[in-house]
Amino acid sequence: MTVEMPQLVVDDDVVDFTQQLVRIRSVYDPVAGTDESAAAELVVSKMREFGWAPTVTEVAPGRPNVVADVDGGGGPGPILAFEGHLDVVTEGNMATWTVDPYGGEIRDGRLYGRGSADMKSGVAAMLYAVRALQLAGPFAGRIRVMALIDEEGMMLGAKHLAASGGLEGVDGVIVCEPEEGEICTSAKGALRVRVDMHGKMAHGAMPQHGRNPLPAVARLAAWCGDYQDKLQAETGTHPHLGDVYVTPTVLSGGSLEQMNVIPAVATVALDVRTVPGVDHAKIVEAVTDAANDLAAAAGVTAEVAVIDDRPSVEVDPDHPMVRALAEAHRAVTGEEPRYGGVPGSTDGTVLTRDAGVATVVYGPGGKWIAHQSDEYVEVDEIRRATAVFAEAARRFLSRVVE
Ligand SMILES: [Zn+2]
Repeated sequence: MTVEMPQLVVDDDVVDFTQQLVRIRSVYDPVAGTDESAAAELVVSKMREFGWAPTVTEVAPGRPNVVADVDGGGGPGPILAFEGHLDVVTEGNMATWTVDPYGGEIRDGRLYGRGSADMKSGVAAMLYAVRALQLAGPFAGRIRVMALIDEEGMMLGAKHLAASGGLEGVDGVIVCEPEEGEICTSAKGALRVRVDMHGKMAHGAMPQHGRNPLPAVARLAAWCGDYQDKLQAETGTHPHLGDVYVTPTVLSGGSLEQMNVIPAVATVALDVRTVPGVDHAKIVEAVTDAANDLAAAAGVTAEVAVIDDRPSVEVDPDHPMVRALAEAHRAVTGEEPRYGGVPGSTDGTVLTRDAGVATVVYGPGGKWIAHQSDEYVEVDEIRRATAVFAEAARRFLSRVVE
């Protein structure tokens, strides 16, 4: 089947708009008094300039989600969504930057600054992609453009959107995070568990009158390695996401100022990273059993708390949205698409978990440059991603891929 497609033209202003976004320090930083509001305002004004009617929802004070529905005017059809986050992580130590993190400077074809890759270029690209498609003529269905808050924190924006029915009827979401042009059909799960062991405080000279929780938390931290070996052997290595990890990241108890005191409480915290098929509830059960056994053996008690639970998510590579993206990548870049996985979690994880919607992650910028000093994105990659997004939306909505 041949399909007539009008020329899609990407406006070069997408680069300038990325620079404007990078120049806003949208770090959620209550001490410095910065948040996502200024970046949200800029996105809102661009959407209005495009003739869209964005909805602004304050999720927390000064922290609004911005969502616009763009109807193609070509009759009923699927709903495709694009998602990006407005917040960035802190610039960290300024001395480690050789450029102004909020300068948006372009040097040798690279646009520098905090958020240039993660992910203001992705936000700019999704806006200009939808605009390009709109200018090319009517299309069937609708596109929802979503710029959310707090991805780098607790993902409050994505949680709020999913909980308030913001994904109802949506057939798929393209999450525009920096993945180096890889089509990421899976993302790792994350589970954070805190274990407090409660004993009895006593003088170091008379330990027989206390119950020391420290050896028990140390044994639990060591147990993680054995448990990880067991889980890895059971689960196997995922082709895109690699292995399961069970990492103790915090071990605390007692104080250096009071070395003659047996502390009443000691804590170990675990950062568990999983792949599809791994049952988080079973991991929590295993940690709880181990904690209780080790605590009992030491005469102390264990208290286990799940601090965060984000499942590993996966979308079928044959999902029409993923196929449209792959075909668009091929058409725009002339290269075969590469498939990959997201090592951490994204807003897409929450959208899939809480709203059951299919998500795929693809966007401009290097995977590993995010959160680093001298973060940058290749300017050509911004233009290319914009064209791929527009082409993917056109193919998905016109049901060329089914
Ligand atoms: Zn990001």
